[in-house]
Amino acid sequence: MDASEIMAMYARLLRLSEPESYKAAQQRYKDSGKKSLAMSARQRQQKEQCLAAYGQQCVRCGFPDIRALSIDHIDGGGSQHRREIRRHFYRWLIANNFPPGFQTLCMNCQFIKRHENQEWTSALI
Ligand SMILES: [Zn+2]
Repeated sequence: MDASEIMAMYARLLRLSEPESYKAAQQRYKDSGKKSLAMSARQRQQKEQCLAAYGQQCVRCGFPDIRALSIDHIDGGGSQHRREIRRHFYRWLIANNFPPGFQTLCMNCQFIKRHENQEWTSALI
């Protein structure tokens, strides 16, 4: 795979796993005119702070590349709470002093966990 295929794959993963984040990223892309769906510097810094608190590798498989890591709600991703804080998730974790109930997972393990917990709402996977 070349770099553009990898970017397309990540964009697809994001669209499927976090449709609200994907929509927000698309909107930022449109607004900014930039050719990137990358997080803002501030969001990246917030994510790095959260990973430093919860662990800088996947708790299931040990995958260490932060580009594919995110913080997972241990009790499941479909809760009302998650929807409420989704847009400001990393900021919320920081503001609440990194509360328990969250863990670091890579995208692969997030997908596997959602499959195991039957959290999928889409018939695509
Ligand atoms: Zn993993």
